Amino acid sequence: MAEAQSSGINSSTRQLLRAPQVNDTIKPCDLCQLPIEVSGYDLNTLAGPKHFCCEGCQGIYRMLHEGEIVDDITQPSTRS
Ligand SMILES: [Zn+2]
Repeated sequence: MAEAQSSGINSSTRQLLRAPQVNDTIKPCDLCQLPIEVSGYDLNTLAGPKHFCCEGCQGIYRMLHEGEIVDDITQPSTRS
């Protein structure tokens, strides 16, 4: 019993010492599922923030989900 507990502690300590590169910050493109290497192509939608790998994916998603985009700050009413 005691051995099982100590081995469990050892395995967790190993993970801390290895300090693997955390790729959790790299999210897949919400359109093509490719890893996002360049950030900044984001859209706020009714379903939450969406992240895209490129301007093309962002534009396509915007077209497909036009009614769900909430970050359009065009405000046409203030222009006229
Ligand atoms: Zn993409």
